Amino acid sequence: MIVGGDITCPRCQNKDSTQRVSLIAKQVDGTLSPQEVESLMDRLNSGEAQQWNKPNGGATWEQLEKTFRFRPKPRLPWWVNPSASTIRFGGFAIVVGILALLYFLSSLIPPPVLGLLAFLILLFFLSLVGYQFSVGAGKARRAYEAEMVAWSNARTNWTRTWYCARDNVIFVPPSLQTFAPDKISTLL
Ligand SMILES: [Zn+2]
Repeated sequence: MIVGGDITCPRCQNKDSTQRVSLIAKQVDGTLSPQEVESLMDRLNSGEAQQWNKPNGGATWEQLEKTFRFRPKPRLPWWVNPSASTIRFGGFAIVVGILALLYFLSSLIPPPVLGLLAFLILLFFLSLVGYQFSVGAGKARRAYEAEMVAWSNARTNWTRTWYCARDNVIFVPPSLQTFAPDKISTLL
């Protein structure tokens, strides 16, 4: 792995072994853009970066990348933002269920009261289902929005976090404090 960025490590005071944590993840995944590869090669050739087969401290780059990996974006529960086919099948299932119930009830009750009763039951069930759904969906949506804010703040901090392969420490410039790699979650 080629490591070397334009930020000085607060511990060894060198730039040749520091790298953004997010760029390490990309190098391990092989998802660097051509520009990023080019800039790393330029740095390596000019001596501003170094090749580290393994960072100091025993871990492999792959293990380190797992430590640094950023959690995936939170997702809205499927039933809050359901797909068209979920709505169609779900709605169909509810209507069939209610019709089956009404059919069953109609065998117990004499016909004159049936029409009104059937209508009231249908109305009751549909409003109950609708009410429960909207309350639940509102709660889930608010929870999701709060999670999204926390997630994107953490992600911003993650992209600001640097690693030094020589000292096996992470830091967030301009702060000069350094931490062990596994402490990354406390910085995010
Ligand atoms: Zn260092």
